[in-house]
Amino acid sequence: MKTTQPSTYESPWRSEEVRTFRNTVREFIQRELVPQQTRWREQHHADLEAFAKAGAIGMLLPDIGNQYGGGGGNFAHEAVVIEELARAGVHFGASVQCIVAHYIMAYGGEEQRRRWLPLMARGELVGAIAMTEPGAGTDLQGIKTTAVREGDHYVINGSKTFITNGVHAGLVCLAVKTDPKAAGPRAMSLICVETRDLPGYRVGKPLEKIGRHGQDTCEIFFEAVRVPASNVLGGVEGKGFFQMMDQLTYERLSVAIAAVASAEEAVAITTKYVKDRKVSGQTLMDFQNTRMVLARCKTEAQIGRVFLDNCIERFIQASLDPVTAAMAKYWLTEREFSIVDDCVQLHGGYGYMSEYPIARMWADSRVQRIFAGSNEVMKELIAWSL
Ligand SMILES: Cc1cc2nc3c(=O)[nH]c(=O)nc-3n(C[C@H](O)[C@H](O)[C@H](O)COP(=O)(O)OP(=O)(O)OC[C@H]3O[C@@H](n4cnc5c(N)ncnc54)[C@H](O)[C@@H]3O)c2cc1C
Repeated sequence: MKTTQPSTYESPWRSEEVRTFRNTVREFIQRELVPQQTRWREQHHADLEAFAKAGAIGMLLPDIGNQYGGGGGNFAHEAVVIEELARAGVHFGASVQCIVAHYIMAYGGEEQRRRWLPLMARGELVGAIAMTEPGAGTDLQGIKTTAVREGDHYVINGSKTFITNGVHAGLVCLAVKTDPKAAGPRAMSLICVETRDLPGYRVGKPLEKIGRHGQDTCEIFFEAVRVPASNVLGGVEGKGFFQMMDQLTYERLSVAIAAVASAEEAVAITTKYVKDRKVSGQTLMDFQNTRMVLARCKTEAQIGRVFLDNCIERFIQASLDPVTAAMAKYWLTEREFSIVDDCVQLHGGYGYMSEYPIARMWADSRVQRIFAGSNEVMKELIAWSL
């Protein structure tokens, strides 16, 4: 068979400077994070020091301005961080850190930005975003955690579940009901909770998940927790739901980026595996089925890459709409799981062994279709635009 190499595709947003940043991030992940993964998986969370180390190389808030301690780059830099972590199979809360920082940038006051963002950029303050409750995930308006105004404080009662970075979080961007009697979304606010030595605040043990074992996901509890009234994002009550809807575009695009990077990596490692692995005197690549499956996976990953790049460019130009972001989150995470699943099949029994990256990738990628708004919700959003 004639061998042909396709022309190399380069994402248009990857400038020379972004490439240099990628090399720094990749080298750091390989040197500092990859060797810790077995231990992180056993303890069910990342080391707190890893945040400070990641902060020191500018990996935590790369798309936040220098005046707030960030890297002064744009979303291309954050995309690089997400891609490199996904390729390395390292699930580390850098993306959540950035998501929280963008809530503060968008709705925080100048004093709050200057107080929290530099600490977050240096990894001395870990952020978490806490919306989900045991009785309210998709149905965000059904949350029961309340924040009741008492003088110049709010008193918070309730609990949240499935909170990424919960173990180390020193700053929780918390969805609460400030006025349970207000109409629908206007009942909700976002309030920033500084958790250090905070009476009434408690963190549960990391939850047992089927994948992403090295990243903590836990419950957090609030019992008569007092927080200054000025910590309400946006300064006034009732804006929380709209703020979350606005910021979810950033989060959904971040999930889509990880999806494409992991699909591409799955194709790359499986291509290598099937060329090496011998069965019945020939390599797996010699079977037509293997070539057909991998050809389809590679094509789908490439189509996904081009769509994703278009979304990234539009996001950098501030013109990505929420419906297109929902399409990217839904479609790219579906493709990711289907590609990774096909790649597991091509590995045979080894694809089911956790010591093989493809097996971990399979378990790790499953949640992508569930969080940041489930894919069913993404399809509803898309359908509303029809
Ligand atoms: C590993 C992990 C990390 C997470 N990190 C965070 C975090 O950091 N912060 C945070 O706040 N949350 C986090 N979550 C929570 C996540 O966002 C929710 O699990 C998700 O929003 C779904 O909510 P739920 O689990 O309550 O499912 P449910 O809302 O009970 O949904 C169950 C099923 O019903 C479907 N469904 C629900 N409503 C509709 C509808 N109207 N139409 C059609 N189908 C519907 C859903 O799509 C889903 O398939 C995390 C979850 C996981 C697993």
